[in-house]
Amino acid sequence: MKPYKNKINRIRSFALALIFLGVVIMYIGIFFRSNEIVMLIFMTLGFLSIIASTVVYAWIGTLSTRAVQIQCPSCGRHTKMLGRVDMCGHCREPLTLDPSLEGKEFDVSYNRPQKQTVKSTDDTK
Ligand SMILES: [Zn+2]
Repeated sequence: MKPYKNKINRIRSFALALIFLGVVIMYIGIFFRSNEIVMLIFMTLGFLSIIASTVVYAWIGTLSTRAVQIQCPSCGRHTKMLGRVDMCGHCREPLTLDPSLEGKEFDVSYNRPQKQTVKSTDDTK
């Protein structure tokens, strides 16, 4: 059992969950028709949740353009990966862009030091 999922897939399911949440909240609001203020609060919350998911979807779009498309060595299908380590979107095979991490056990924390080095090179500019 591999605990991690492909990042883009994970964000996508999060956005989908937000849409469902928004619809459910708005649906609950209908039950409070007698109380206009409560209904309005539920409707606003539901609407905000749907707006948030739209924002997340737009964010995935930006991430996807930056993501590296590679062919998965395990299942042979093409998948997009983010950061230094990620999971194959089809078979959850751990993938890495860093040859020094090859063969090592998958760990999401490998993404963190890379972010720090990017930051420090920016500072020297
Ligand atoms: Zn795969």
